Amino acid sequence: MPNTEEKVWYWSDLADLTHATQVENFGFCTCEEQEHFPYDDCPRFFQVLVSWHEDPNDKTLTNVAIAPSLSDYPDDPLLNDDRIFFYFANQEEYDQAKRPNPNGFEFRIEETNG
Ligand SMILES: [Zn+2]
Repeated sequence: MPNTEEKVWYWSDLADLTHATQVENFGFCTCEEQEHFPYDDCPRFFQVLVSWHEDPNDKTLTNVAIAPSLSDYPDDPLLNDDRIFFYFANQEEYDQAKRPNPNGFEFRIEETNG
């Protein structure tokens, strides 16, 4: 855990915060409840129905996330949730996974709540 007691925070620091640095320095981000997303890189979670290209009748109801800061702060608990089947780096990748095969993924997202 970083020691936040010794660090003095300036407004300029706060203006530069991202989801990754927020979690790294303060241990949480208000996006945890998935209602407010204060930073552009806040992860977003969706419940989806996926089918596998190999067997399109084999469908799985699961959860995925769009998580732009995945590699910026690997200890982020939101990015280490074993209920998440797949993390997408951005909206574009997520939309790509909804397209029919070939879409670059082993699966296709058929339905989603968001
Ligand atoms: Zn966040």
